[in-house]
Amino acid sequence: MIIRKKVWPRTVSDLLSMAFVLAIAPLMYWFGLWIILPGLYGDENLAYKLHFVLGSFIMLNIVGNFTYTVLCDTGVGGRIVPVSTATVADGWRLCAVCECLAPPRSWHCNTCDTCILKRDHHCVFTGCCIGYYNHRYFVMFLWYLFLGSAYAFSYGSLFIWSRVPFEFPMSIVKMVFPVAIFFFGFDSSIDQFYMLLYVVSVVGTLYTGVLCVYHFNLILRGVVGNESNKRDFTYDVGWKDNIREVFGERWYLTWLLPYIKSQLPHDGVSWCHLCSKKD
Ligand SMILES: [Zn+2]
Ligand SMILES: [Zn+2]
Repeated sequence: MIIRKKVWPRTVSDLLSMAFVLAIAPLMYWFGLWIILPGLYGDENLAYKLHFVLGSFIMLNIVGNFTYTVLCDTGVGGRIVPVSTATVADGWRLCAVCECLAPPRSWHCNTCDTCILKRDHHCVFTGCCIGYYNHRYFVMFLWYLFLGSAYAFSYGSLFIWSRVPFEFPMSIVKMVFPVAIFFFGFDSSIDQFYMLLYVVSVVGTLYTGVLCVYHFNLILRGVVGNESNKRDFTYDVGWKDNIREVFGERWYLTWLLPYIKSQLPHDGVSWCHLCSKKD
């Protein structure tokens, strides 16, 4: 893996979004394992210990995949192979900003200020582009964010509604405006703070759930966002090989930990082998 040199977020929206994830993920981890589960089970119980291990495993994957996504350089720079006029005909283009020839499926990102190999999109939560080399880590980061949120949401529901009596309409107001209610002094109790974190888990589950469906669907169809919009399925080689294109040869192990190596089948630069595979 080539390490990206400039990992510091380049825009205010990148900075704020990254700061939000880096603050909220540990907060939810604390809320789940130090508040919710001891509240439900007590902290000596075997069930609590099992949940603690599972919750820590999810958190390790969130942090690990986030770090790999941010650090992994998936830009074109330094990877350009010598090209002939024949390869240029195979979809290479001249990037006017980078002033270099860029391979098929790459796209220039104005924020990252470089062309990105098999560019999917620029992610504000990681402050970098998602492309050929970090696609796996990004999708696993998303998946574990979803699992963690859904986990916090399900046990948070049991916890919150056993502590806070549901009163119509005040409980609805407290759920819809949890931040305002807590910070503007209407209800600054610890229960309202827990309610705020619970609402974060509800919104997080829905948001990351929708993103997971969207991104796994793209992967199975062998396209990135831009190609899907144009209905360009040139590089779709069937769902099994499409999975390998993102998760590598040992795709079945990549969900375990980001540190597990899984060689990607190609280099993200030359793509003509996929076109010929279909014929
Ligand atoms: Zn460029
Ligand atoms: Zn970018």
